[in-house]
Amino acid sequence: MTSQNHPTEDNPKRQWLLQDFEIGKPLGKGKFGRVYVAREIKSKYVVALKVIFKEQIEKCRIQHQLRREMEIQTNLNHPNVLRLYGWFHDAERVFLILEYAHNGELYKELKRKDHFSEKQAATYILSLTKALAYCHEKNVIHRDIKPENLLLDHEGRLKIADFGWSVQSRSKRHTMCGTLDYLAPEMVESKAHDYAVDNWTLGILSYEFLYGAPPFEAESQADTFKRIMKVDLSFPSTPSVSLEAKHLINQLLVKDSTKRLSLQKIVEHPWIIKNADPTGICKK
Ligand code: ATP
Ligand code: MG
Repeated sequence: MTSQNHPTEDNPKRQWLLQDFEIGKPLGKGKFGRVYVAREIKSKYVVALKVIFKEQIEKCRIQHQLRREMEIQTNLNHPNVLRLYGWFHDAERVFLILEYAHNGELYKELKRKDHFSEKQAATYILSLTKALAYCHEKNVIHRDIKPENLLLDHEGRLKIADFGWSVQSRSKRHTMCGTLDYLAPEMVESKAHDYAVDNWTLGILSYEFLYGAPPFEAESQADTFKRIMKVDLSFPSTPSVSLEAKHLINQLLVKDSTKRLSLQKIVEHPWIIKNADPTGICKK
């Protein structure tokens, strides 16, 4: 389907206009934007076009955040990171030209299946680990990895999207962000947190992929908070999950961020070696 070069391959500095695209069906709606499938007319290349109204981003004073998101994502080029090919704007709107993730949200796939097989879960975790290792190498911390921000391409390959909360930094940051379920203890305490935040999230996602729900779910936000702080982790008897998978989760959901398994060690972990498909391709 997308066999040709993407639209910025030949000319990365090209200025785009809305007239360069044929707009197709809506793909989704976020807090600030609507996303449509679109086709660049000359190359016939299919992309996702995210439309954001300037008035809305100005009202919420997130111009800087949007610019940072665009700059960070433009500089990332990895098979498991959703590409941002470029952007343009008119008087009212900003348009982001994004790689099209044909199979949509991983979250929907998880809801549909209830939980993933060890093979599928391990394949996604390996893809994510590789993507995060790449981002960390470029000093980018995503900080908002959750199933809603993970998309699947036409081959079922995982793509990290939504760099809205990410930072590019060599230093530690002190900001509070993201949904509670995915927050690591040191973030909950608003202490300095670093790259190990994304490693914690990999533990949360491994659990959620295998059991169908995140580990610290509770009736109220306050109770989730308490459970995170205590690392109140338990493994239900169903579905049945291998000891290797539980071992990996236990090595990632460690309160002391310096003691969490490194990304390199995740790649080499027996559960990953035994179950993950290194091509990252996961057919339905
Ligand atoms: P929020 O901040 O609430 O997550 P958002 O403004 O960041 O929203 P997106 O998450 O980027 O918006 O997009 C909204 C929805 O559109 C996504 O949840 C997804 O279903 C769909 N979508 C976004 N980008 C793509 C893409 N590149 N390919 C396919 N579908 C997409
Ligand atoms: Mg989103």
